[in-house]
Amino acid sequence: MQHFSADSLILRAVDRGENDKLLTVLTADYGKFYAILKGAHSMHRREAAAAEPFTWSNIEFYEKGGVKWVKSATAIETFPGLRYDMEKLFLAAYFCEVAGELSDEREPAGDILPLTLNTLHMLSTATGENKRIKGAFEMRAACVGGFAPELLHCRECFCPADRNGYLDVMNGAFVCRECLDKKQAIAPLPEVDELGERTVLCPLSPGSVAALRYVAEAPAKRVFAFRITDERELSEFSRAAESYLLHHLERGFQSLENLKKLTALTNKRPSNEVP
Ligand SMILES: [Zn+2]
Repeated sequence: MQHFSADSLILRAVDRGENDKLLTVLTADYGKFYAILKGAHSMHRREAAAAEPFTWSNIEFYEKGGVKWVKSATAIETFPGLRYDMEKLFLAAYFCEVAGELSDEREPAGDILPLTLNTLHMLSTATGENKRIKGAFEMRAACVGGFAPELLHCRECFCPADRNGYLDVMNGAFVCRECLDKKQAIAPLPEVDELGERTVLCPLSPGSVAALRYVAEAPAKRVFAFRITDERELSEFSRAAESYLLHHLERGFQSLENLKKLTALTNKRPSNEVP
């Protein structure tokens, strides 16, 4: 039987039978793996909290019969600000699902682990910042995944990307409005290009492109150290970042769908209320 301990981010915990849980964890050295927690529902409160999803815990594991088991767990950081806020919980689930997608088994986790921990910390402590935090995580996660966009210049005319334009999502580049207008005037952009990929253009203004560029290039610890106060710029930033990540990972996320359902529900006014 092999024992080892590792600081672990719990990405997911699902019930397995009456009293056990299957944890998906992400660790710096061993990457992502699965481990079974026995007697999850009869554990002491403190230890049970250390095995909750989206918790950063020191876990002692043992390996038996090719399966990893949890021997004990001690929470290092529980991110308490997430626990009583539905939207934050759903966002945390989404960040952890993306982190799982961007990590492998038996490979060190690399930059996605500190990014996710940093993001959970921001989410737990900040107020009214969910949209900005989500966008920054998405753009940076895309970069960590190897899809960093070119946001310094227009891809066509090389003018600086300090004006209105678009994020050409599939080509990972900024295109200024003048260039796109010129192109459109000659031949309307095809919905699907020769490679069969859909053309996805997200409108950007100077503030939103600057924010995306900042997030893509900032030192790891400074990813969230930017401001974007204009509502329109924040919306553009957030739409472009989400679209960019999802298109490059070529998949959707159940946790993001859940988050959108929740947002739609909380934004819905009762029918007899005058808007
Ligand atoms: Zn241009």
